[in-house]
Order: sequence, then C-alpha cells, then structure tokens
Amino acid sequence: MTFTLPKLQYSLADLEPHISAETLRYHHGKHHKGYVDKLNELTLGTQFASFSLEKILLTAEPGPLLNNAEQHYNHSFYWKSLRPQGGGEPKGVIADAIRDAFGSFKAFKKTFSDAADGHFGSGWAWLVREDGALRVLTTHDAGCPIRAAQTPIITCDVWEHAYYIDYRNERAKYLDAYWSLIDWDFAAANLELSMGSKPVNGVVARSA
Ligand code: MN
Repeated sequence: MTFTLPKLQYSLADLEPHISAETLRYHHGKHHKGYVDKLNELTLGTQFASFSLEKILLTAEPGPLLNNAEQHYNHSFYWKSLRPQGGGEPKGVIADAIRDAFGSFKAFKKTFSDAADGHFGSGWAWLVREDGALRVLTTHDAGCPIRAAQTPIITCDVWEHAYYIDYRNERAKYLDAYWSLIDWDFAAANLELSMGSKPVNGVVARSA
C-alpha cells in the first residue's frame, strides 16, 4: 500500500502574510513529503503494507515506523486545520463546546496558546475531544492523540520547521498568526464526527 502526500487545499502563497509560501514549500514539499517517503520505505514488504494509516497508528510499536506514520497523520491534519481568511471566533456547535469546556473563547485561546508556546522542544498542540469533553493538550515529537483515544479537533505544529523561516525563534509570533488561519468549519466537522459513531475521523485519505 502506498501512502501519498496530500495536496494542499490552497496555494502556497494563500496563507500569507501569516505563513509564507517559502515555509509551506519546505514544510509540505520537503518535511511532510519526507515522512511519507520514509513511511512507504518502512512498510514495504511488511505486514503494515496492507494496513490503513489509522491501523498503523493504533498497532505499531514505538519506533521509526510509528513516528513517520504519526507525522504523516499529524501534518495532513494540520494542513486542514488552516485556511486562507480563517480564524476569528467559531460559531455554532463548536463555539458552544468550547464555551462549555473553557468558559469562553478568550479563555480557550489563552489555554491553547500557553500550551503551544510553553511546550518544550518539538511537538504539537491540540484541541481534542476526550470522554465527551474538549480539552487542550500537547504531544512530544510525533505524538498523535488518536493513540490515546482522543479525537483531534484542530492542531498546531510547533516544530521549529513550522515557523523558523518566517519568525525565527519567536514561536509566540507564529502562534499569533495561527489564530488568523484556523478553519473552524474543519473543527466543527471533526467535533460532529466525534459525536457520531466513528471513533477516529478519516481525514487522511490513503491511495489504493
Ligand atoms: Mn511539521
């Protein structure tokens, strides 16, 4: 089974001025592609070659195969968490769920930003649904919440490669930009899926 680099749903320059075309060219075309290529290399000729990405995530032992599978999932999810002219405050069911969990959108924004900015080293900040409620968490390196039965709602990549070209060492400035890019429709769709019967959302398409 061959995994493929998903196409971005926007052009490289469409997230400017918040994230540059150069960052996207490297982040998607080099970093993410590298994880996909490595995943294909590591699954070739093994039992994992016939598994879906989700099945690999849930069954692989910690190590290079799992790391690359997680990075493929996480990046695919990250690209969909962003959109041109995104951001602002969510509406509808996702807004209600955020208010229920954090008290207000402002409080959620601070919780998420503090977690992302305070995360030591490489990793990911997430809004997830777990046991029926939303919560914010971070994962180290390639860590993926679905291994812990947490359903991702949105994510922010806090590896330096996500922001170093645009903001150098200033992760907080990248996080400010992130709030202008969040695709709340994607978040709402993930929340609604998580309230249905499917335990894992299927955002990552696998080629035949
Ligand atoms: Mn990345």
